[in-house]
Amino acid sequence: MSSVTVRVPAKVNVQLSVGPLREDGYHDLVNVFHAVSVFDEVVAKESESITVSMAGDWAEQVPVDDGNLAIQAARALAKHAGRTYGAQLVIHKSIPVAGGMAGGSADAAGALVACNELWGLGLPLEDLMEIAADLGSDVPFSLLGGTAVGTGRGERLSDVPTGGQFHWAFAVAREGLSTAKVYAECDRLREVAGVEVPWPQLSEPLLAALRTGDAAALGGQLGNDLQAAALSLRPDLSDTLEAGRRAGALGALVSGSGPTCAFLATDADHAQRLADTLSHLPTCRTALAAHGPVPGPRPA
Ligand code: ATP
Repeated sequence: MSSVTVRVPAKVNVQLSVGPLREDGYHDLVNVFHAVSVFDEVVAKESESITVSMAGDWAEQVPVDDGNLAIQAARALAKHAGRTYGAQLVIHKSIPVAGGMAGGSADAAGALVACNELWGLGLPLEDLMEIAADLGSDVPFSLLGGTAVGTGRGERLSDVPTGGQFHWAFAVAREGLSTAKVYAECDRLREVAGVEVPWPQLSEPLLAALRTGDAAALGGQLGNDLQAAALSLRPDLSDTLEAGRRAGALGALVSGSGPTCAFLATDADHAQRLADTLSHLPTCRTALAAHGPVPGPRPA
């Protein structure tokens, strides 16, 4: 095989509960991931060495050296297989960079699947999941897709059955936010407030809404413990959230560490109307309509 192409979805967290700061600097999470139809495309072609090039709107914001998560993923896979392999990776980016939608993790997951195929390794998903967990907390979910609960740092996953499709609009901010800075701000705000941080708990009403495909119920259950921190760093995101609510969203929240804001719609037309409205906001670089859950990356 001389070239393999995979599409990898972005994610939104429909519940993100952040426990107390651990001694190792991480937090215990309850993280309900939901893969949505905003895709990066990862192409892996035969080559002597592992390289990456980026295309698309966001290309200039992503490193093409060893800092690129797709290169790190391809290297980790070659190491696991115990051989020196090469791949020319070409990534067409549509997932906002530093947007709280796990775009880098998606590219890492796409590189694992594409290189596994290109190199004829035939490794099962379980092996790829192990490699993914070492690359970053969100990479295992990016491989899996669908809807899943992540515990620990978010990397211990179990699948969540959903009763149909949900429709979303995403308001993409002009500038990204660093995930590390948002967690640090969350810790700072909690310290200032002086309250004891509870152990994160999975929301049963949220699971029920997902299981039954009840968008109105899900809208009322969306929750993100990082939202206050993202709003503290970017106060204008409140205007974005408010604009979506006024336009009839069933629920609105910051996606992961932000700054992308996610809005639950009643159906595909409503999602497109919400996206059209949001795209005119001065706070918005662009807005996208999408649906979920969608599967993780598979070779075409
Ligand atoms: P998350 O939702 O997992 O917290 P995010 O969506 O907020 O992550 P990413 O788009 O994954 O953020 O990017 C975070 C940083 O990682 C970027 O600033 C970028 O420099 C770096 N990065 C490395 N490789 C990639 C890649 N392939 N795509 C995007 N960003 C990458």
